[in-house]
Formats: sequence, structure tokens, C-alpha cells
Amino acid sequence: MSTDEPSVPIVCDECETETRVPLDDLADALDKHNAQKHDGEAVAEVDPAIKDRLADLVAEDLGLFDEEAVEEG
Ligand SMILES: [Zn+2]
Repeated sequence: MSTDEPSVPIVCDECETETRVPLDDLADALDKHNAQKHDGEAVAEVDPAIKDRLADLVAEDLGLFDEEAVEEG
């Protein structure tokens, strides 16, 4: 069993739940939860406390923020 996979807490205000999912499954887990519990509304989301850090990780990993211009000065 591999336990060193990075896991990400998903929190849902309406369900008052917190679920940890592997980073690889994050998008799927969010989609599935919101589709099944909330009619597709984006209620559940990544724990805001780590969202910023995650954004950095994911951005580095996937180049998600390529379109964001680098501001200097
Ligand atoms: Zn929910």
C-alpha cells in the first residue's frame, strides 16, 4: 500500500464534511460530490487553508497559471 501520495482535504459547508482524497482524484472527487449531493453546484471545495499552497503545487505541476502574466515593478 502506498501512503505517501499527497492527499488533499475537501470541505463541504452544507454537508459539514471533510474528506481527504489523493491529489490525482481531487477533481473527480469534487465533481462527484457536487454532482451527487448538490445537483452539480460547486459547494464542496478544497480546504481554503491549503488552497493557496495547493494552487502553487498544482500550478507548478500542470502549468495552470501560465496565462497569468508576471507582474514586475
Ligand atoms: Zn456536500
